[in-house]
Amino acid sequence: MRISGETKVCALIGYPVEHSLSPCFQNAAFQHLGLNFVYVAFPVKASELSDAIRGVRSLGFHGLNVTMPHKITVIKHLDELDDAAKKIGSVNTILNRNGRLIGYTTDGIGAVNALKYNGVELYGRKIVILGAGGASRAISFTLAEEAGELVILNRTVGRAERLAFDINRLISRSVRIRWGGLTEENLREELKDADILINATPIGMMPNADETPVKRDFLHPDMTVFDLIYHPLETRLLKEAKNVGAKTINGLDMLIHQGAASFKIWTGIDPPVNVMMRAAEEELKRREEI
Ligand code: NAP
Repeated sequence: MRISGETKVCALIGYPVEHSLSPCFQNAAFQHLGLNFVYVAFPVKASELSDAIRGVRSLGFHGLNVTMPHKITVIKHLDELDDAAKKIGSVNTILNRNGRLIGYTTDGIGAVNALKYNGVELYGRKIVILGAGGASRAISFTLAEEAGELVILNRTVGRAERLAFDINRLISRSVRIRWGGLTEENLREELKDADILINATPIGMMPNADETPVKRDFLHPDMTVFDLIYHPLETRLLKEAKNVGAKTINGLDMLIHQGAASFKIWTGIDPPVNVMMRAAEEELKRREEI
């Protein structure tokens, strides 16, 4: 990598960020295409966000990724939001266009692209999504543009209801949306004829890798199971889904595709998704060996 006086700086801000895979796969993509860009990560606590954004402006950073805990609070520091970020109410990507900071969200499109990249048809399909937090919100909004039916199941039912209400209010297309609690009964009923199941809760994430949000008996071979978790790469949910013959997609696909969408916003160039994926997989392998 050749750093010069003209190198464009992209950065991740959040807290914590030291284990993020983004620097590894974004730099791999910049290098692969010979772009004079570099990507670094900065730990920024909630109380430091406003100073950090002032710094981004005065130092002329080209782009940012924004992660927990700033995805919502960063909005008030920006000059403009794209339509999806406005509807969803969160930002994970910022472009500095001639001094104006523009906020985008690529979480939803990252999940949708991960599904499409793996050959999963969305149009008219019944999709059951578990969770109604930030990730589910971004993904549900984006999926509602194509799905036939969307069912949101969440531990706190009111949050699922709110999300369904917001989608119905803010998207132009009419889509069947239902919601309910994350109960065994709802899972059994809703998964019978579901085409796609998405886990957008942390159930099954390290150190609780023996947990799963869905009983194996409710999974079937005609469904695609997509778990947003990437630590571990193959969750218990995905292992059991694979065992029943279902198609499976892991959280690394989503991470790469949301990063790829950010890359496109910063550079205007189609991202080398395979290069990004390989770099992230190698980095994960390297970390396991340490
Ligand atoms: P969040 O905003 O904190 O939302 C968490 C969601 O999970 C909420 O709906 C919450 O339900 C539910 N939940 C949490 N603990 C639970 C439990 N023990 N039992 C049942 N439900 C539980 O988090 P988020 O940002 O949406 O992230 C959700 C998951 O997606 C995390 O595992 C995160 O690592 C993953 N993720 C992955 C990517 C990627 O690129 N692969 C990107 C974003 C997120 P309540 O509403 O009842 O609290």
